[in-house]
Amino acid sequence: MQLIILGPPGVGKGTQSVLIAEKLGLIHLSTGEILRDAVAKGTPLGLQAKSVIESGALVSDEIMIGIIREVLTKEEMHKGFILDGFPRTVKQAEELDALLDELNYDNIRIVYLSVPKDALVKRLTKRGRKDDNIETVLHRMQVYKEQTAPVREHYKNKGVIFEVNGEGSIEEINSKIIELLAA
Ligand code: AMP
Repeated sequence: MQLIILGPPGVGKGTQSVLIAEKLGLIHLSTGEILRDAVAKGTPLGLQAKSVIESGALVSDEIMIGIIREVLTKEEMHKGFILDGFPRTVKQAEELDALLDELNYDNIRIVYLSVPKDALVKRLTKRGRKDDNIETVLHRMQVYKEQTAPVREHYKNKGVIFEVNGEGSIEEINSKIIELLAA
């Protein structure tokens, strides 16, 4: 299975992805983690991405698509994976669709997690990551609204999206997602 988990910043994509990956034996791919790792290691990618992440903006589609292409081309990915944090623009979604097709991935599921905005800001500012200060959080929300929310429409139009209410306990939400995927 190739699972794409969508939803606004702070909705719990990361937390749910880790649990789903464990339960279903999928490889968890978080583009945010890949970037934070590059920043920590001081690689050329990291040097480029650092200020972008800290401002709450998006790293360019070209860079992100390059990263995803490289990862998804690996043979081990055919065991199944969960994409967390990608795609974040319609351009990324279109490139991903073409890439999955090209690489013969054919059991694609898309889950959209939603939570009211007030709850999101509260969750994010409690998390303590470097890009979780209130200014960056608000900017990330704005970027989400303008650039990432249309990704949900992209998949809705293709008719392949499962929508899950992300309010409640971690376990409750996780069970809902697992049930949906098993159906
Ligand atoms: P995340 O851990 O998914 O919240 O991502 C943290 C930050 O990494 C984002 O606010 C962006 O700056 C950057 N980032 C992660 N994934 C992407 C992506 N698919 N496209 C552009 N920027 C990304």
